[in-house]
Amino acid sequence: MQKETIAVHGGYNNKEGWGTMAVPIAQTTAYAFRDAEHAANLFALKELGSIYTRLTNPTTDVLEQRFAQLEGGAAAICVASGQSAIFYAIANVAEAGDNILISDKLYGGAVTLLTHTIKRFGITAKVFKSADASDLEEQIDDKTKAIFFESLSNPQIAIADIEKIVEIAKRNGVLTVCDNTVASAALFNPISWGVDVVVHSTSKYTNGQGTAIGGIIVERDGLAEFFKENAKRYSHFVEPDESYHGLVYTDVPLPNFCLRVRLALLRDIGAAQSPHNSWLLLQSIETLDIRMEKHSNSALEVAKFLESHPKVKAVNYPGLESNENYAKAQKYFKDGKASGLISFEAESYEAAKTVIDAAKLFSVVVNIGDSKSLIVHPASTTHSQMSESELLKAGVNPTTVRLSIGLENPKDLIEDLEQALA
Ligand SMILES: *Cc1c(COP(=O)(O)O)cnc(C)c1O
Repeated sequence: MQKETIAVHGGYNNKEGWGTMAVPIAQTTAYAFRDAEHAANLFALKELGSIYTRLTNPTTDVLEQRFAQLEGGAAAICVASGQSAIFYAIANVAEAGDNILISDKLYGGAVTLLTHTIKRFGITAKVFKSADASDLEEQIDDKTKAIFFESLSNPQIAIADIEKIVEIAKRNGVLTVCDNTVASAALFNPISWGVDVVVHSTSKYTNGQGTAIGGIIVERDGLAEFFKENAKRYSHFVEPDESYHGLVYTDVPLPNFCLRVRLALLRDIGAAQSPHNSWLLLQSIETLDIRMEKHSNSALEVAKFLESHPKVKAVNYPGLESNENYAKAQKYFKDGKASGLISFEAESYEAAKTVIDAAKLFSVVVNIGDSKSLIVHPASTTHSQMSESELLKAGVNPTTVRLSIGLENPKDLIEDLEQALA
């Protein structure tokens, strides 16, 4: 099935169960069991069904199935936010004493989580260059449990050398985790390039209207075989889990990665997504494809305008032929469309702040992927918790202005930027 069709129908059959055209919101904490045996079977995984909304929910289940299909994965699991999706994806494979390899171009929240917060849990992050993965293989050792990168990074708007990262990871038997938030499932599917696990902050383009925080983890088909082949590195998938009366994940005929996130991490840490947010995201996904096309087309128009403006020192948008990531955008993304993020360099720190204050149609917001256009100065906001050297390494200059191009008519956006830059 094509993506636009999946986005509208995936995971839901209106002839069964509810029988409603729209997916209802199962706004419930718990579920009634038929009898004691039914309850026992559910807990023992002999039968699948809902026990408690921290673990599963029928509305969320539709979203999980729909999203897994959109990404070409075997299964998906929703969590409360993009941050919890990243944390669970890593915590599902790494423990104290292990290390992970992370891209040098990441979202600020991912940087603080993966370099600072999980260090206190005994997991170390080593940084690699995602543009060409030239220093990736030499940093892999026996304790490396995951390679984490963003397909199209926020806010650097850089594209990773996905093919090379996957090739190195496969050769070394290390799991790849790709954050596909900015490209979105409409423009890019990491699994089709061999990535093992995909995470999203669904709060951004997937939601598209700035109305819900959410996160999702998707796994490719065949991870049970991968864990068995790399049993030494991923022993906790092939050996009995004491916390689940000796369950061996690779023995269960269900996609193993999401299964363990659900049974161990959602059970114990509990960052479950609210059913209402799942419902909002189901509405959003119906229009994901047309929205991403519009965001991308408008962003290209705005980027071309900025490139020709005398007060703009540089423009970063991978849809521009002059951009260093243009070839990668053409290679990986649907029709070469490059999503809605643009950054540009103003003449000075002061000039950057002036543009932000003068723009009328753009709201000053630390978010991306909204239908309303947004403008932000990363150095003083989203990335302010990073040190100056971390900032520069992440490609955030004091003069950088970041735009998230919404669904307004691009002529109005250009007019607004023209007056703001004057
Ligand atoms: C926003 C964002 C996150 C974090 O997601 P939340 O839903 O805000 O927790 C992670 N990765 C990327 C690329 C993001 O843009």
